[in-house]
Amino acid sequence: MKGTIATLPGDGIGPEIMASAVRILNAVNKKFGHEIKTEMGLVGGDAYDKFGKHLPEETLALCEKADAILFGAVGGPVDDQESPRWKDAEKNVILGLRKKFDLFANLRPLKVWPGMELFSSLKPEAVRGMDVLIVRELVSGIYFGARRRFQEKGEDAAEDTNKYTWSEIERVVRVAFESAAKRKNRLTVVDKANVLETSRLWRDVVREVAKEYGSVAMEFMFVDNAAMQLARNPAAFDVIVTDNMFGDILSDLGGAVVGSLGLLPSASLGGKKFGLYEPSHGSAPDIAGKAIANPTAQIFSLAMLLRHTYGLSKEAVAVEAAILAAWTAGKKTKDLGGDLSTDEFTDCVLQELK
Ligand code: NAD
Ligand code: MN
Repeated sequence: MKGTIATLPGDGIGPEIMASAVRILNAVNKKFGHEIKTEMGLVGGDAYDKFGKHLPEETLALCEKADAILFGAVGGPVDDQESPRWKDAEKNVILGLRKKFDLFANLRPLKVWPGMELFSSLKPEAVRGMDVLIVRELVSGIYFGARRRFQEKGEDAAEDTNKYTWSEIERVVRVAFESAAKRKNRLTVVDKANVLETSRLWRDVVREVAKEYGSVAMEFMFVDNAAMQLARNPAAFDVIVTDNMFGDILSDLGGAVVGSLGLLPSASLGGKKFGLYEPSHGSAPDIAGKAIANPTAQIFSLAMLLRHTYGLSKEAVAVEAAILAAWTAGKKTKDLGGDLSTDEFTDCVLQELK
């Protein structure tokens, strides 16, 4: 396989964990005989210093030529969000890329790996074997609908519009069915169809698309119940698909159920092979420069990229297995209770990969 990945390391620990992922990619190239290159682009604070923009045209041009984007994280210190270098950095970059490449499906795998049960906010026995994929619609719905402030009967009032079209729902629902068909063939559609008209439209679309995926067992679930089930028996789910706002909330809840931020990858996909892959955490300015960041979420994001963009499942499994083998041998970064630096942990993973 030949290809090019645009790497956008960004701010804080972004460059540290990206360096690990690039080392892993080089090892995968060598082991499996591929020629997948990387080309680095600036986003965030450094891009602002050089181009006066968090997401410069130069970087967009680089991404357009690439097969996929491997993204680190952007954003400044939590107590310095208002200076020009940092103001709206995350929003400008993330929303800019989503919009530019019409990345309408956000995939967040929430997996509790053997031995990682203790990081969960829940009891270990409640999360053992948890392996859920949340597919969230990412570019429409209430976050993008018209909103306004107005006066009503002499007092302030406000409204937000939740709008979906059939095709906006259909394309993300297809991603979910396709994903379920490659996993355990179970799909839970989360909505509030007892109240919302958009949810009823989602159900109509799902029933149509389901006809093409006879092997997938599909169920509908109200979002309030889904939140309860996710916090009670998360191992019961396989794939969940839902709209933008419900997906935002449920995926953070799911993140807390898994526990450690440093372990969670994500993918934002458009219709084609192209996608943006990134850790679910931010730039962690509190630990940046200390060489202690856990590169796992970034490396798992690379594994998702290999799987979705290039169709290299064998390679993706090898990368994931190497991380698990390193953990099993007791090799861990500080956030997981170990004492290895980012690079030392990456060395162990490379060793397992060879
Ligand atoms: P954060 O995810 O950066 O950090 C939260 C906590 O988790 C911190 O204590 C951090 O040290 C720890 N942590 C995160 N990733 C880790 C890793 N790989 N290894 C070990 N520990 C890790 O969230 P925050 O502190 O709320 O935000 C910091 C900055 O990141 C802000 O500027 C915010 O805007 C930005 N941010 C960016 C993204 C993104 O780029 N997609 C997402 C979230 C936040
Ligand atoms: Mn959110």
